[in-house]
Amino acid sequence: MQNILELLLLNLYALCLIGAISIVFFSKRRMKEIEDSTYAWFLMANIAISITGLILGVAVNPDFNIPNITIIVLNKIYLISLLSWILLLTFYTFYISLNNKKNTKKWENIFFIINVIGAILILILPTKVTVEASGVVASGLSIILTYSIFEICYLFQLVRMIIDHKNLKSKKYIPIYLLVLFGIVILVIVMSNPSLNYIINPVLIFIAFIMYFTIENPDVKMIEQLDIAKTQAEKANKAKTEFLSNMSHEIRTPLNAIVGFSECMLDRNDLSEETKGFAQDIVDASNNLLEIVNGILDISKIEANKMEIITKEYNPREVFNSLCKLVKPRIGDKPIEFKYTCCDDLPGVLKGDVSKVKQILLNLLTNAAKYTDEGSIEFIVNCINRLDTKTCLLYVSVKDTGRGIKKENIEKLFNKFERIDEDKNTTIEGTGLGLAITKSLTEMMGGRISVASKYGEGSTFRVYLEQEIISMEIPEASTEEIEIDYEALKGKKVLVVDDSKINLKVADNVLKPYHFEVELVSSGEEAINIAKTKTFDIVLMDIMMPKMNGIEALNELRKIPGFDVPVIALTADAIEGTDEKYKNAGFDDYLSKPIDRYLLNKVLNKFLK
Ligand code: ADP
Repeated sequence: MQNILELLLLNLYALCLIGAISIVFFSKRRMKEIEDSTYAWFLMANIAISITGLILGVAVNPDFNIPNITIIVLNKIYLISLLSWILLLTFYTFYISLNNKKNTKKWENIFFIINVIGAILILILPTKVTVEASGVVASGLSIILTYSIFEICYLFQLVRMIIDHKNLKSKKYIPIYLLVLFGIVILVIVMSNPSLNYIINPVLIFIAFIMYFTIENPDVKMIEQLDIAKTQAEKANKAKTEFLSNMSHEIRTPLNAIVGFSECMLDRNDLSEETKGFAQDIVDASNNLLEIVNGILDISKIEANKMEIITKEYNPREVFNSLCKLVKPRIGDKPIEFKYTCCDDLPGVLKGDVSKVKQILLNLLTNAAKYTDEGSIEFIVNCINRLDTKTCLLYVSVKDTGRGIKKENIEKLFNKFERIDEDKNTTIEGTGLGLAITKSLTEMMGGRISVASKYGEGSTFRVYLEQEIISMEIPEASTEEIEIDYEALKGKKVLVVDDSKINLKVADNVLKPYHFEVELVSSGEEAINIAKTKTFDIVLMDIMMPKMNGIEALNELRKIPGFDVPVIALTADAIEGTDEKYKNAGFDDYLSKPIDRYLLNKVLNKFLK
């Protein structure tokens, strides 16, 4: 009797264990994969095994006087549960080692049919039960059949494990293989010593238990899936950034030709005013396109966390003045009064990422100009200086009397690709990226942006940015001479390196007014060869070239004895921070395509004067 009580307790313990695992497993969100549904059925087989095992344990008590036929039926249910258990485990191990999971449905059906046929046979074949002091002892063909299927299944798993061990891609499946080995050992022990029959149930439940905590825990699986999804998303995002960067290059190259040739037309005296007007329209449209390409590039860099903060010293007054100059053409001939005020205590020299500061404020000013038809636009610069920490909190407001923004739209304002009042926007070009970029850049620099607006009356955007104070003294206004002294530059020798014939033609035309001696070559190798025999005053070098890129060509040029000619990177790769990148690579300066005349003049003045 002592033995029977122990048996009962053991089965009760197994039932509690599997019950607890099942509650946790079924109450959690699960993946909808075959492995998981197989495991779900596997758990149910375990529950059936432990319930029938427990009832059979109770049934042996002679006090209950349970008829023999009931015990036989219970025993058959127990055997069917055992059969399902081993077939499900075999399918599970078979499935995870399958290289090609396309035919899974077929295999599922095969295993199901074996299970149904096996169950029918167990029901038909004779079972003999005798109740002994040690418990229920069953014998007969149904028992032999069940054990035989167990043996075949384990043998099958063993063979597959040996054959397929190389296919097993993930280490996470190692526990299941160990469990298979464990099951085989137990089966051999029980078969050689049938009096140890009672350990079968706890062992089966133990296998389900270990499986749960090693490979079938929904949390672990969910994390694994999330990891896979994250890696895939990161890969896709990286591919997107690369695509956008390449696309920018591809778009900039033809744009270079369009802007270059249109500007050359503007310089010609033999063309009618109407033709020049068309040329100007082409330049304006191309510049808009360029802005869009740059916006997309910026947002993709921000998303890829590749936007870097590059600080340098700058004169804030010069920056704000230049912004005013840039926004005026955007206002055009609309009846708008543009007012700029700057506080007196603005430091003379600040340190920060000036190109981002410019970009942020230019976006706000451009929006004010775009979305205001009449009235005024105020550009107000204030600051709070903390001399002890050498920091200056710039707070800049851009206030307009434009169309304003509805309260419910304010939240959407900084979402990327989100444009508001689409119906009114149809005539105003934009991508809905400007404010998303503005906000990201501001926050990247530890700043803040806010907006107050009344629909129909106007909006005020405020930006707060902390910058380092370098000096309170206002430096002398830079007397940068942008007007070119054509006489002084006449005859200077310029080498242009670009693999694109059309870009060479553009460069040739853009440089024509300067009366240089221009040499055009279409590869790094040619540039090196010609630099060995001829002297030049400046080199304009494209970066993305086949075989030898611009940086490699520059390094080779620098190796030529006596070569100390300024080399300017000339590239369509115009992502934020690119100029620093090329300067660090050894270039003397950087010009992006399409070539901006103003910047070209600046470079020529700096290096050729
Ligand atoms: P875009 O100007 O390219 O559409 P933005 O991100 O710069 O994209 O702006 C998003 C939307 O916010 C605009 O479509 C516009 O409806 C609204 N908006 C931005 N600035 C102003 C402003 N100063 N006044 C009114 N509406 C504005």
